[in-house]
Amino acid sequence: MKNFDYNNKRVLMRVDFNVPLNDQHQITDDTRIKKAVPTIKTVLAGGGAVILMSHLGRPQKKLKSDGSVNVEKFTLRHIVPHLSKLLGVEVQFASNCFGAEAKSKSFLLNPGQVLLLENTRFHKEEAAGEEIFAAGLSQCGDIYINDAFGTAHRAHASTTVVAGHFKADEKGFGLLMQSEIENAEKVLNSPTRPLTAILGGAKVSDKIKLLDRLTETCQNIIVGGGMAYTFAKAKGGTIGNSLCEDDYLDLAKEILQKAKDNGVDFYLPTDTVIADDFSNDANRKVVPTGEIPDGWEGLDIGPETIKAFSDVIKKSSTILWNGPLGVFEFDNFAFGTESTAKAVAAATQKGAYSLIGGGDSVSAINKAGLSDQVSFISTGGGAMLEYLEGKTLPGIKAITG
Ligand code: AMP
Repeated sequence: MKNFDYNNKRVLMRVDFNVPLNDQHQITDDTRIKKAVPTIKTVLAGGGAVILMSHLGRPQKKLKSDGSVNVEKFTLRHIVPHLSKLLGVEVQFASNCFGAEAKSKSFLLNPGQVLLLENTRFHKEEAAGEEIFAAGLSQCGDIYINDAFGTAHRAHASTTVVAGHFKADEKGFGLLMQSEIENAEKVLNSPTRPLTAILGGAKVSDKIKLLDRLTETCQNIIVGGGMAYTFAKAKGGTIGNSLCEDDYLDLAKEILQKAKDNGVDFYLPTDTVIADDFSNDANRKVVPTGEIPDGWEGLDIGPETIKAFSDVIKKSSTILWNGPLGVFEFDNFAFGTESTAKAVAAATQKGAYSLIGGGDSVSAINKAGLSDQVSFISTGGGAMLEYLEGKTLPGIKAITG
């Protein structure tokens, strides 16, 4: 993006301002806004004006009883004061991202000024990737920059289709998007070995494609969290009431076989902290992972597993981590995830490269207070997963062709 001449140009920029708000519509975590600031400032410093577009929440899924969108709850107007403060520029606002107001306000901007367009998802045409809607959005800019990695896996109007209205030399990636791609490429294409992938979270089905790909590139694969119990059952274990996707038992077996054939060391939890209820205050005990009694469910990895996983992590040179190793939202079952975060941080301090792949693993690393001790934290949960699976993301393809 640095190669563009921004002087006197209107730069239409897709950002990810989908930030959490409390009941008073105050921003409770501004990470996503802060991450977009360097790209916006680069354009302003180059003499351009910036027109920002983003979604906020899922207004189409939460329509009011009369079928209209809940503007009060989902308006991006809530973001304006804080964004103005972060940029040091008074940000203007258009109450519709599409139509005459947005277009005329974009033309009236002077270099150095910023206009925020209303939530793109107020229009159902956004998610449908509707062509006329995308053409309308494109009229608000002379150059299109996509800096919203978190939505790059969606073929929506503002993330993908709009790019078709700009010539190759009129569109590009923002700095955040660029660094997300560069960091994912580092793990995919040129990892220093040994390369270790740590996968956790609730479901095997979400991550089976990534696991399959990782059996072709990693030296070590560590699996924990709810998804580990499908593997434990596939290996003949008893898992009580733990999470399990029975439809995936055969695929789990295939993955284990493929890892073996490829010489990948595949680590599953050997012991598990089980609970007699899905609650922080449930009774707890530690048992071997394949010997969980009925009425109990595995909610965290056990101490022996923590030690084994940490030893592998600390000997790794490149680490990819996606998904918590237990129900880390409950303090009594967060120990495995916290210990993993500490091991990743320790390996990074010793020189390893670590990529934390978005979503709940980011909350986990933040909760452990270690976010500044890892190499890169992705802003895109689903987008990062799909990129690492080897999919071509529509938001990226729309720029690179
Ligand atoms: P995902 O979005 O697939 O990465 O899943 C994240 C969620 O998985 C978190 O909310 C965790 O609480 C949950 N999770 C992790 N381990 C377990 C487990 N053993 N049982 C139930 N849920 C789990």
